[in-house]
Amino acid sequence: MKWKQQIYGMKAYQPGKPMEEVQREFGLEKIVKLASNENPYGFSPKVKAFLESDRTNHAIYPDGYAQNLRTTMANHLGVKETQLIFGNGSDDIIAILTRALLYPGVNTVMATPSFSQYSHNAEIEGAEVRQVPTKEGIHDLDGMLNAIDENTSIVWVCNPNNPTGTIVSDEELNDFIKKVPSEVLIVLDEAYIEYVNAPEFKDTLHYIEDYPNVIILRTFSKAYGLASFRVGYGVANEEIIAKLDPVRAPFNNTTLSQKIAVIALEDQEFIEQCIERNEAGKKQFVEFCEQHNLHYYPSQTNFILFEVKADSDVVFQEMMKRGFIIRSGNALSSPGYIRVTIGTEEQNATFLKYLKEVLTTLS
Ligand SMILES: *Cc1c(COP(=O)(O)O)cnc(C)c1O
Repeated sequence: MKWKQQIYGMKAYQPGKPMEEVQREFGLEKIVKLASNENPYGFSPKVKAFLESDRTNHAIYPDGYAQNLRTTMANHLGVKETQLIFGNGSDDIIAILTRALLYPGVNTVMATPSFSQYSHNAEIEGAEVRQVPTKEGIHDLDGMLNAIDENTSIVWVCNPNNPTGTIVSDEELNDFIKKVPSEVLIVLDEAYIEYVNAPEFKDTLHYIEDYPNVIILRTFSKAYGLASFRVGYGVANEEIIAKLDPVRAPFNNTTLSQKIAVIALEDQEFIEQCIERNEAGKKQFVEFCEQHNLHYYPSQTNFILFEVKADSDVVFQEMMKRGFIIRSGNALSSPGYIRVTIGTEEQNATFLKYLKEVLTTLS
């Protein structure tokens, strides 16, 4: 068969072991997953109440235009309905963008370490991937500007960055966007924007009005606690959205997920509570790192990447035996580090107690 050359040897995304399997393998009663930055408090109680009495007809196709969700989101953000595209998670928008804009002969610029789906999708499309190392976990925007040339099609700014949790300031971002040629699409991936509280980070929505080449990606998978429902979206000017829409699969969000996203969006009080608790949880990790002299990246998210002064894979394995699933830095281009989702106060305390035990035996 005539497979694309780049498909040979390519690996599927490794989501980590399913919780049930880990439970069986290690004979554990309880498993806590702190590996994928989901919300440890789940989702809005209003969504829960809705699900209990839901009568959605799942036999008919969903609204491919997600009209009700679109109207609610447009009002929430203060943008036009035609400035939005919805995806089966923001992963879907990333795939739509690469499918529309990347092909052999063009290149795409991104940071490393950063979110792996940018390079993965770019490789599938046969585009050249240009990865610019971060500086102290922060995007090196000047380095990224230097990597852009006349064949660059997309530049990715993961802000805050996954896996480092760091942000680029609005001042730096503004300067960068000004200098990127207008024929290069700038993707601002803001999967964790709800958690950001640094004053140097400012709302970015105005960039889609000020520049013709900016798209912002956001998701219901992280702070909204709806990862399993797969709803992400892009916000950009109408011309960009109109170009992307034909590339989108016709029914890429289910009826139920569209309904639930509307309810979740309308419960901002729940999000506020989660953010507050996340801040307290982050302090538990920061204090641990400082006490044990472990380098960590200043996180503006619900996860933290920090040094373990041991083999990351061994720490990952040892923590799994103790009932905690995390991400080894080896899988995130950050050897010697682990990335941990900030859990509830109790989860964090238990996690750190076991981690101390593991790091003591390994040192
Ligand atoms: C989790 C994540 C996504 C993808 O989220 P979806 O579940 O597909 O909406 C996109 N970008 C970053 C940086 C992420 O961490």
